Amino acid sequence: MRVLVIGAGVGGLAVARGLLDQGHEVHVFEHADGLRNGGAGVTIWSNGTAALTELGVTLDGVGRELHSLRSLTDSGRLLWEADLDEVTEQLGSPTVEIPRRTLLALLADLLPADVFRFGRRCVDVREYPDHAEVVFADGSRETGDLVIGADGQRSVVRRRVLGGEPAHLTGWASWQGLTFSDLPVAHGTRTLNIAGRNGHCGLIPAGDGLLHWWFDTPWKEGVRELTVADLREVFAGWPDPVEPLLASIGDDDLGFFPHIRHQVPRVWGGRRSTLLGDAAHAMPPAVAQAANQTLEDAWVLTQSLADVTDSGTLTARLRAYEQERRPRVAKVSRTAALTSLQRSTPLQRLGKFPRWVATRSQMMSLRSGSNVLNGPAPARVQLA
Ligand SMILES: Cc1cc2nc3c(=O)[nH]c(=O)nc-3n(C[C@H](O)[C@H](O)[C@H](O)COP(=O)(O)OP(=O)(O)OC[C@H]3O[C@@H](n4cnc5c(N)ncnc54)[C@H](O)[C@@H]3O)c2cc1C
Repeated sequence: MRVLVIGAGVGGLAVARGLLDQGHEVHVFEHADGLRNGGAGVTIWSNGTAALTELGVTLDGVGRELHSLRSLTDSGRLLWEADLDEVTEQLGSPTVEIPRRTLLALLADLLPADVFRFGRRCVDVREYPDHAEVVFADGSRETGDLVIGADGQRSVVRRRVLGGEPAHLTGWASWQGLTFSDLPVAHGTRTLNIAGRNGHCGLIPAGDGLLHWWFDTPWKEGVRELTVADLREVFAGWPDPVEPLLASIGDDDLGFFPHIRHQVPRVWGGRRSTLLGDAAHAMPPAVAQAANQTLEDAWVLTQSLADVTDSGTLTARLRAYEQERRPRVAKVSRTAALTSLQRSTPLQRLGKFPRWVATRSQMMSLRSGSNVLNGPAPARVQLA
């Protein structure tokens, strides 16, 4: 099949890799003039690393493998700590923090250069009985058998195929970055999450002395973006190493990400189209699953299309892929929204869980939101 992938982000590159391996002809269209390799770090949990392995991508020697996940209150009290080594042992795949640009480069390096078409902004998608057509902002058109919308939170493909404007702001935003740091946390293997009444923050080592840090606060459209000076005020008195970190960064280090959530639709496309990643299910970053769920999509979709050579089975396979993914990802999205809200409630702040409970709960949550950790795709992805 000739497959047109819209968007060269994590999802577009991963699915291109999978489909090329299956023998399909794949073209990736990206509106920017090159890979958009901005951003800070991405946490690839056991389900994400398992999906990458299935897609033939190894994270050996890149980023930082994480061994523990610790949650504190803003007064420095330990709420819980999950043992990620135990999670790795039970689920068979590690947790790795990696700069987003490194993940994109790894995925892109596995693709032939002629797969990419940069500077092509998709503005419309049309579907016909025997082909699909993509229209670009420069007036050019491409035809193929299938269109995959991997074009992120504000997906044009989703709008053109499903209609409406599904994305909504949640009322929170992250200010985050990735900087070299002398702080011990940057050179360890533990991720720290700290929750307070007026905000949350996290610090995650990303390898090579890099530290991925984020600060979440309530934010509404029209309100000005925060500066480092504002963050120092909001997070004053927070436990070590929040203040030394804020003392070490400048406004140029800050990336601003308003939180967006989609309703996960029942059906993700038309007879010759589907969605993947943030285009289908943007969610708040509270459980850091966006990239992982996207990699799961890429793997399941690849498996679903493995032996599709004609139009007869294509639509059924697309719907089967969506049916496999939808319940899992909808659950993760609900958890992300709930976690985002609950982090500042008194109950959450008072609770304290033993290590084994936190570890088991982490494991159960990863498994329940995953297809790849629950069995081989070809057996699970069947015709609807
Ligand atoms: C610049 C950037 C920085 C990010 N930083 C972080 C981070 O630090 N941490 C984190 O956890 N997540 C980050 N994310 C989000 C994260 O990559 C996604 O949540 C997740 O990986 C899902 O990936 P995706 O492929 O669905 O979407 P994305 O990674 O957002 O990729 C979508 C791609 O589609 C392209 N595109 C959009 N519209 C069109 C169009 N009309 N025509 C053609 N191409 C189009 C975009 O330019 C982009 O390259 C970032 C995303 C971007 C784009």
